[in-house]
Amino acid sequence: MDNCIFCKIINKEVPSKIVYEDERVLAFDDINPRAPIHVLLIPKEHFGTLNEIPEEKKDILSHLLLKARQIAQEKGIAENGYRIVLNTERDSGQEVFHIHFHLLGGRQMKWPPG
Ligand code: 5GP
Ligand code: ZN
Repeated sequence: MDNCIFCKIINKEVPSKIVYEDERVLAFDDINPRAPIHVLLIPKEHFGTLNEIPEEKKDILSHLLLKARQIAQEKGIAENGYRIVLNTERDSGQEVFHIHFHLLGGRQMKWPPG
């Protein structure tokens, strides 16, 4: 999608530190990490938010989640634990409107989140 920063990252028009890539998803380091490990996982197909994922595309969500789990295992944070965040729309604080899971780990998380 034109003017979407994450689509530009997918197309390699904007550089990123890629952690994992396959035909459906891309995972890359967050540019402003909030934890020692902070990876973003996105579908290569553009959807603005969770609200825009149609029922017939629901498999992308489980694929993203299990890839987040795999990255957590590979980065050595699976045992101690990690947090997966999916901000949706304005009240959540979503800033980039290409759906993305945050994978955060490597430190103790607080609860509830702000
Ligand atoms: P949101 O608030 O939308 O859930 O999170 C957007 C995230 O994208 C933020 O954590 C922000 O640091 C990250 N981000 C925004 N622009 C870029 C970028 O150009 N490159 C990378 N790697 N991360 C970005
Ligand atoms: Zn996009």
